[in-house]
Amino acid sequence: MLSNQLNQSILESAPDAMLLVDAGGRIVYSNRQVSALFGYEPRELIGRSIEGLLPERFRDRHPAHRGRYAAGMRVRPMGSGLALFALRKDGAEFPVEISLSPVRDGERTLIAAAIRDVTKRKQAEAAVIAAREEADRANHAKSRFLAAASHDLRQPLQSLAMLNGSLLRMITEGRAREALELQGQAIGAMSRLLNSLLDISKLESGAIRPEVTDFRVAALFEDLRREFMSLAESKGLELRVELCQDSVHSDPSLVEQILKNLVSNAIKYTREGWVQIRCHHPSQSLVRLEVLDSGIGIPRDQIAHIFEEFYQVGVSPNTTREGYGLGLSIVDRLVRLLDARLDVQSEVGKGSRFALELPVGAASAMGLPAASRIGAARPRPRRVLLVEDDAGVRNATQMLLRVEGFAVLAAGSIGEALQLSGPGDEAPDIVITDYHLGSGSTGIQLVAAMREQTGTMLPAILITGDTSSAVKEIGAGHAVRLVSKPVDADELLAILREEMPARR
Ligand code: ADP
Repeated sequence: MLSNQLNQSILESAPDAMLLVDAGGRIVYSNRQVSALFGYEPRELIGRSIEGLLPERFRDRHPAHRGRYAAGMRVRPMGSGLALFALRKDGAEFPVEISLSPVRDGERTLIAAAIRDVTKRKQAEAAVIAAREEADRANHAKSRFLAAASHDLRQPLQSLAMLNGSLLRMITEGRAREALELQGQAIGAMSRLLNSLLDISKLESGAIRPEVTDFRVAALFEDLRREFMSLAESKGLELRVELCQDSVHSDPSLVEQILKNLVSNAIKYTREGWVQIRCHHPSQSLVRLEVLDSGIGIPRDQIAHIFEEFYQVGVSPNTTREGYGLGLSIVDRLVRLLDARLDVQSEVGKGSRFALELPVGAASAMGLPAASRIGAARPRPRRVLLVEDDAGVRNATQMLLRVEGFAVLAAGSIGEALQLSGPGDEAPDIVITDYHLGSGSTGIQLVAAMREQTGTMLPAILITGDTSSAVKEIGAGHAVRLVSKPVDADELLAILREEMPARR
């Protein structure tokens, strides 16, 4: 029995079930909550062994645990990290959390145990885990579906883009050309939407992992200038790209993707004036990459929403305008993936500023991994080796290249390609290949085989819908230009000209 009346009333008023146990494991006191929790009459437990409140399977080992606790007594949770269970008088088990502490009672030391029934919490935890597993399953199923659908959609879309490009080059009659141009725009819109949806699904499925390195911002800005200069000019906007001496520590291709989205928006939502890309140092450890415009601006109460999927300021759902309202939701996911910060300031009628804050990188950082520019003095460009296992895409691309005046060697597999340019045949000037070539072979393997056969660093363009696998397989030093599928005819031809070795 407790010697102190005050102690006893404190224990009775505690919200948890409280037991006092002596060195031999006998219960010397139990409060009212113990009776309620375990289903015993008040005082019924006094003098019994504490092991009686444990399920059978734990009883043997318990005295040893008690002994160890008694030897090094201090306040601590019991069996931390273990799932603990108690046994009710009616034989039902329930999960518990137990906290132990030593208590002096005159000459003897007792162990006080506070016991909490955690059935409800465990149930809630289990429900959360089950819900998360279910959501993960659904998410994976969705990603698998999207990946499969995308592959099957990209191929015909790629064919359409190539055929449209070919027809535009063959047909001169006014109205027919107009129809073809509209068709080209529709194909382009479809490609962009498909790409955005795929980007989102890839980001959600966790398939994209940042590969962080130190890189110089100047190279990135230069790429942006090159990519957006003519678009800005065509809208009569000045594209100002400031010199940036900083390096940042992040994933260069994901940062580039974020900035591309921001610059493209800045141009899209600016009717007159300028778009500016610049950087500055808010502190020793941070670099801010900023995209500013003198555009239409965003109302203050809308800023929080622009990162939502399909959200466009001033456009009610189900009506359309240029874009799909997905660009910034991709940006938002990328920013979170990079653990970075994006800050938006905007004033209606004056313009907007999007600022991406990244950790500073080593001063000695290299530029962006340069796209391959291979081959200095090679024969005049003429022969293109085209390797694509999908006959539809192969024929359409071949037609486009022929219309443009290239000699095309078209193959459906690595074996066929090697045969087409065997010893004694004139080697192609450049290879255009799909990444997945069927039967598990890849365009990278083809490029390696062709380079071995010709004994030259044959320039190569790899078209892929599966950029992440291709990038992984390419690794460093393969000198292959990567192009995401679907690519339209003009883009493909522009890249082909860029990669084509210079004339002798
Ligand atoms: P969208 O495809 O419509 O451009 P985004 O997700 O990229 O989709 O952007 C969402 C919305 O945010 C846009 O529809 C536009 O209303 C607004 N917005 C984004 N960037 C700017 C900007 N630089 N200036 C003004 N409004 C912008």
